Amino acid sequence: MSTSASSTTDTIARLTAQGHLIGDEWSPGDSAGRYAHHDPATGRLQAEVALGGAAEIDRAVAAATAAGPGWRALPLEERAAILNRLADLLVANDPGSALLNARDNGTPISAMRPGVYAAAWVRYYAGWVDKVEGHVVPTSNGLDYVLPEPYGVIGAIVPWNGPMMGMGQKVAPALAAGNTVVAKPPEIAPFGALRFAELALEAGLPSGVLNVVTGGADAGQALVRDPRVGKVSFTGGHVTARAVMVAAAETLKPLALELGGKSANIVFPDADLDTAAMLAVLLGVGLLSGQGCALPTRLFVHDDVYDEVVERLVAQAAALAVGDPSDATSFMGPVVTDAACQRILGVIGRATSEGSGRLLTGGDRLGGNLADGYFVAPTIFGDVVHGSDLATNEVFGPVLSVLRFTDEDEVVAKANDSNFGLGAYVHTADVGRAHRLARRLEAGMVIINGMPGMSPGAPFGGYKQSGFGREGGRWGIEEFLQQKNVFIAGS
Ligand code: NAD
Repeated sequence: MSTSASSTTDTIARLTAQGHLIGDEWSPGDSAGRYAHHDPATGRLQAEVALGGAAEIDRAVAAATAAGPGWRALPLEERAAILNRLADLLVANDPGSALLNARDNGTPISAMRPGVYAAAWVRYYAGWVDKVEGHVVPTSNGLDYVLPEPYGVIGAIVPWNGPMMGMGQKVAPALAAGNTVVAKPPEIAPFGALRFAELALEAGLPSGVLNVVTGGADAGQALVRDPRVGKVSFTGGHVTARAVMVAAAETLKPLALELGGKSANIVFPDADLDTAAMLAVLLGVGLLSGQGCALPTRLFVHDDVYDEVVERLVAQAAALAVGDPSDATSFMGPVVTDAACQRILGVIGRATSEGSGRLLTGGDRLGGNLADGYFVAPTIFGDVVHGSDLATNEVFGPVLSVLRFTDEDEVVAKANDSNFGLGAYVHTADVGRAHRLARRLEAGMVIINGMPGMSPGAPFGGYKQSGFGREGGRWGIEEFLQQKNVFIAGS
């Protein structure tokens, strides 16, 4: 075992033994049992993760509630300095976090720098700490002003496909706004969020300001139901989101929901076809092995260039470097769990037998030296039937659907004929068409001739059943603020 591999093993052992962060204490409470965590690349059992439940959430929310007044009273420059120190630590520790992420959920170290990414969000929101402004309402009979205030305790339910990133996107703006946080990473990838919490303590974050309880549905439900939690920011699938909404209804709790997608990617004949095909495969198949909410998984190619684009897609898929995510030469790793692998292979099998499309490449589990891991071959279906299950639902695996179109109105109608509306991608050399489609496509993010910028200053979130609320920019911090109106009569 190499030095870096053995230090990642040590980190996983330490984080597993420590368990949850509640106040400034690590506590391995497992009131909801334990989860056998396997290395996605090898299938080896690597940890028995404590699953927190109602008991651990209760203690974490109590700690966050108690820490609230002190955090709000801290001079703003100190609040910002702590967040900036956290950003520095995230960057300094990024190589270790990337290796940890590879073992957490199978993301290759070449594809994701989780510490650098999270740090960008933490630093961006550190800059907002002293820039949240109120407002004076013009009136002739007194002083009428608007005071933005934190909610108190925020519940942050973080997904497994980017646990450290998710902490940056949710925790940083919540803390910058003056809230305290109870974060709940999922059991299947808890390590990135726990490492983020370790670094936050090292940066000097006061006790109880950030608490992390690892767990599954039990912990998630307890967090959403707790009346002391002022708002919940949830990232996950739309089915779970419905359960979260039902639970939130008990206390009429506001929510921000970042959900799934089936993002359309439209290639017009005037596009740079090499770039379009390369990005279609890198983003639609390779990156995160297709396990990303806003990745372009529904590729519409104009009939005039369909055959030449498909030829390029198949060549790109064959050229994808699939392998050990801890190896810097791999671009595509395994999927997250054996269950995910089986589910994705099931989707591929059904699509094939139902005639939803023509399997152009892939479709099976990889063997050889990858046979013990959860590796699905880069898979592309051509001539996919619009309206089929394959073209409609999120696969969350390395499976690209390619559909034909002949004119702009037709493709816009088909792209918008989806319950989701997270991302949309367009490849064209026609600037007028680019702007026109940016307006016509029903999605929270439209990307022209490239890949998402993912700037912490830009709003990220969905239309339709891809959710509501935004992460990033002023919109991201406003999610964690409520507006109080103060009226002083007279004068
Ligand atoms: P999931 O819905 O299964 O789980 C999300 C989180 O909810 C996990 O932490 C899980 O433990 C928790 N949870 C499960 N049941 C719960 C319940 N009944 N009450 C409260 N919490 C509960 O999703 P996932 O498999 O972790 O993530 C994949 C999904 O997330 C995909 O649909 C993907 O598109 C979406 N996603 C969206 C974004 C985004 O920003 N829009 C980012 C990443 C992933």
